[in-house]
Amino acid sequence: MPRAVLYFAIVGLAVWGAVLLADHPGAVTLQWSGWRVDTSFAVLLVIVAVIAALTALVYRAWLFFRRAPARLKWAWQAKRRQKGYQALTRGMVAVAAGDADEARRQARRADVLLDEPPLTMLVSAQAAQMNGDDKAAEKFFTAMTGRPETEFLGVRGLMTQAMKRGDTSDALGLARRAYRLKPKSAWVASRMFDLQAREGLWLDARVTCDDLARHRLIDDAEARRRKAVLNYQLGVEAERASAQGDAQEDAIEYLREARKQAPDFTPAVVALARLWSARGKHRKAAAIIEDAWAADPHPDLVESYLTAREATSAIDRVRATQRLAKRHPDHIESLIALGRVSLEARLWGEARRYLESAAAGARPPARVCRMMAELEESETGDGMRAREWLMRASLAGADPAWVCDDCGNTVGAWSALCGKCGAFDGFVWRVPPSVAALPASERGDTPALPASERSETLALPSADVKAG
Ligand SMILES: [Zn+2]
Repeated sequence: MPRAVLYFAIVGLAVWGAVLLADHPGAVTLQWSGWRVDTSFAVLLVIVAVIAALTALVYRAWLFFRRAPARLKWAWQAKRRQKGYQALTRGMVAVAAGDADEARRQARRADVLLDEPPLTMLVSAQAAQMNGDDKAAEKFFTAMTGRPETEFLGVRGLMTQAMKRGDTSDALGLARRAYRLKPKSAWVASRMFDLQAREGLWLDARVTCDDLARHRLIDDAEARRRKAVLNYQLGVEAERASAQGDAQEDAIEYLREARKQAPDFTPAVVALARLWSARGKHRKAAAIIEDAWAADPHPDLVESYLTAREATSAIDRVRATQRLAKRHPDHIESLIALGRVSLEARLWGEARRYLESAAAGARPPARVCRMMAELEESETGDGMRAREWLMRASLAGADPAWVCDDCGNTVGAWSALCGKCGAFDGFVWRVPPSVAALPASERGDTPALPASERSETLALPSADVKAG
């Protein structure tokens, strides 16, 4: 409505102006250098209007031609940028698809087309990494560390390269830098913990473990377990540092802490009991082993217990083992431990009773079969039956051992780091996947027969096996 009113007002004004000019045409006379123009005021007005319109038109045209190159350049750059981003996207897709050549080609294209090195460098670095060109990858990652927006990605890339080379100390330095940049990154914190553990920096690893728990990157149970292992390592180191004196107090303190954090962690119980026994605190040593046995009987506890109970004679060893076994009477480890000490004490009847109970299942464990063979050989001298038991041992399932959860490496003695893959706290006590992985001597069992005879027995065809 107001627009219409305005329109009519303008038309009204124009009509009024035209009528006014018609009523009072007026006269204009221009005189210049011998020229004379006589006209009306209305005509002069029209001429002035036409000149003004023409001037405006010429000015617009001049502006258009003056700005044209800039506009053309802008359009060309926009097109180029679009192509650059397309190349970048294709490069990233190629990285995800594992097509190294395509990734490198697209990264180069994007680099030429786009003036944004942070974006293209990552794809270039990844492409180089995939191509196995470590030098180029490192060059790109190093360049990335120079810019604040890509520093973390660069450091992360260099860290991966260092870990690939197996350069743990270099990787650890980079991990520390990455950790300063992003302390809440689960990837960085976990890698830093692993690297500190691999380098044996147990105290540093304990601090990182606390950080991991504080940022909720690991749960409380996992944090307690890790700290138990780290405290155990610190205890072992403190014990090694000084055979006597204050340091041993430190060792005991670390081991007590480890046991508190993970009561089922056998190595800490064994080490603490050993230290306490050495200091004459036999009762304390025996008590923690009995508790551990009640929770989860582990064969490594038996010898520590016999030391704690100062059981040296064969009959004392049987009595002490009976006392320990009472804490978990029906467990196969209790029966095996009793069978072994009875065998050592030449209590044939007792030994047979325990071992036959332990061998009651469909597939008796190999070490029970070996002890049964020893029993037959020692008690009755029945070589035939001993061989039968050894045959069964060779066919029985493997005895439990410390098996690395990550790589399957099987060892006789627990350690914080896997010697094969370097995993921290990877060893779990279980039946290894293959019998051949571990020689019997490492399992803590002594074969009843000499090795030569044993291997001969193992070579018998399985058709000769008799049940029982
Ligand atoms: Zn391993």
